[in-house]
Amino acid sequence: MSQPSVGILLRRGLRRRCPHCGGGGLFTGWFRLAEHCPTCGLRFEREPGFFIGALFVNFAVTEILMFLWIVAWFGLALPHPHVRPELLAGIGVIATVVPTVFYPFSKTTWAAIHLAMEPLDEAEEADAAAYRFERGDR
Ligand SMILES: [Zn+2]
Repeated sequence: MSQPSVGILLRRGLRRRCPHCGGGGLFTGWFRLAEHCPTCGLRFEREPGFFIGALFVNFAVTEILMFLWIVAWFGLALPHPHVRPELLAGIGVIATVVPTVFYPFSKTTWAAIHLAMEPLDEAEEADAAAYRFERGDR
């Protein structure tokens, strides 16, 4: 299977789809990613510690949204910006809700970013093909 473009990889990742084939059904729960893509057989954890990158993606999205919240808060309060409990409550909500909601998206987005940086090698293609074969595909 040829490598999709970076834009396609990212679009698929941001939609919780397999970045390699676009297949869905990757999660058995909100937090549990399957080991292989059920469609193409891609092994998501490509190396030990692979999902540290997903943690970074999730952290970056959370921090960006928190930054935008703070900028909007102070921007709307000009010319007399002030810290109020609502500002801190908003920060707390963003810091807890965004990483939880974005968690599965961060995993597939990171898988897409990693695939864009490092396309599948022959061993990974063979692993995916073996997975599909064991499952019964021809
Ligand atoms: Zn796939």
